[in-house]
Amino acid sequence: MRLLLVEDEKHVADFIARGLRAEWYAVDVAYDGNKGWELASKVDYDLVVLDLNLPGLNGMEFLRRLRGRGAKVPVLVLTVLDATDDKVESLQAGADDHLTKPFAFSELLARIKALLRRPAVVPANVLRIADLEVDRLKHQVHRAGRRIDLTAKEYALLEYLAAHPGQTVSRTMIIEHVWDQSFEGLTNIVDVYVRHLRAKIDDPFEHKLIRTVRGGGYCLSDEPGP
Ligand code: CA
Repeated sequence: MRLLLVEDEKHVADFIARGLRAEWYAVDVAYDGNKGWELASKVDYDLVVLDLNLPGLNGMEFLRRLRGRGAKVPVLVLTVLDATDDKVESLQAGADDHLTKPFAFSELLARIKALLRRPAVVPANVLRIADLEVDRLKHQVHRAGRRIDLTAKEYALLEYLAAHPGQTVSRTMIIEHVWDQSFEGLTNIVDVYVRHLRAKIDDPFEHKLIRTVRGGGYCLSDEPGP
């Protein structure tokens, strides 16, 4: 899951980003509206956390442009105390939820998880492909009833593949959703992580689930490969 955070108060932004990364989300941070818009225009984010009072492009205008473009990405708006008009206006402009500053990180996290659980974003809390189970709430993976320990990135990669069962996902799509902008272009990073993942979820089992699609990318599927 890759999130965009647009927040100009640097200490708040860095605090949120650190917390979210510790929860295994990939997070891009923009400290002003224009930079945020630039990122939102080129990356297909899974969720946006948007402060309303921003230098450059303000949050409300950001939101209107995003919805005007038809983007369905969930947006959680951050407002200041007593800004009731902002809440109403942002909901009308297409925000999915809002949170008043100051807030506890645990509340922000709970709201983000709730938005990401919506059916349009996430098909189910537990993804099942053959005897593989990916629990998106607990970040736990089981295969044939056996618990499999993954690192944060291995989990994020598997979750992305499992959310697109039977579909070929390209290396570019994987990088976009699993890594954030702090990632520095090792082009074979996806292949390296797929190898790690295979060692844990496929190698010990007869029935292999991760397929390499020549010239395409990877596919997690119950069907035998070509
Ligand atoms: Ca602000």
